[in-house]
Amino acid sequence: MEADVIKSFFVKYSRKKNGARKSHYGKWLQAIYDLIFPKRCRSCGVLIKSCEDGYICDLCFEKFIFLKEPHCPVCGLMFLKTGGDSHKCGECRSKPPYFSRARSVVRYSDDIGKLIHQFKFNGDLSLLATFAILAEKSLAKSSYRADYIVPVPLHGARIKERGFNQSALLAKVFFKAERHKICHLLERIKNSTPRIKLDGVERRQNLRNCFRLVAGSAVKDKVIYIVDDVYTTGTTVNECAKVLVKAGARRVEVFTLAMVIKENAA
Ligand SMILES: [Zn+2]
Ligand SMILES: [Zn+2]
Repeated sequence: MEADVIKSFFVKYSRKKNGARKSHYGKWLQAIYDLIFPKRCRSCGVLIKSCEDGYICDLCFEKFIFLKEPHCPVCGLMFLKTGGDSHKCGECRSKPPYFSRARSVVRYSDDIGKLIHQFKFNGDLSLLATFAILAEKSLAKSSYRADYIVPVPLHGARIKERGFNQSALLAKVFFKAERHKICHLLERIKNSTPRIKLDGVERRQNLRNCFRLVAGSAVKDKVIYIVDDVYTTGTTVNECAKVLVKAGARRVEVFTLAMVIKENAA
């Protein structure tokens, strides 16, 4: 408790309202603050010299694979091995999804998985600062302006148990300037089995008709971004997109923190 009071004192007096560091004595306060509360890399835990909350050391940062071209322009699957030009992946060609475009910040790995687990299941919300840093380095900008930003909903029972919806919190850090557009237009009507335990086919059946539009939501001709933590097979976000497209949405795009890309996928 006392540590919190000291922390807030330093934060208040060493920072300007916009978060920028104050000059002169503010710098000294920051130095003392860093001495009392040394910062550690959020991934490996190594002590690092004065830096922002949520920071990741250079070594860990280099381990993240930020998704970029060549990729599938639809689902964002990065062609890790084959290279060449961007082109539609087999999955998107054989079964075009309801969303027009999906992009993820990094490839799913043990490192990002550990952080997501810590955030989701241990409720470490301070990691949102880390995810914001990662997202700032990436998040391929869309040329479409969203009317609404929709977090993938959790079932009521799951929210009660966890206390928060991770996708809603991620939406806030991914789209800081457009927070006012975050809208809970979808609801989850089935409390599905945790996805990690199911294979592709089971996952699809498990999630079928899992979502519906919240009564009274109007999405006709709207451009909507869906936000989730992990893009595994795309089934979850595609089920969400299906509901929105069927209700008349003009375009649905997807943003996730991490995308699972199998070694042999591309
Ligand atoms: Zn590190
Ligand atoms: Zn694709």
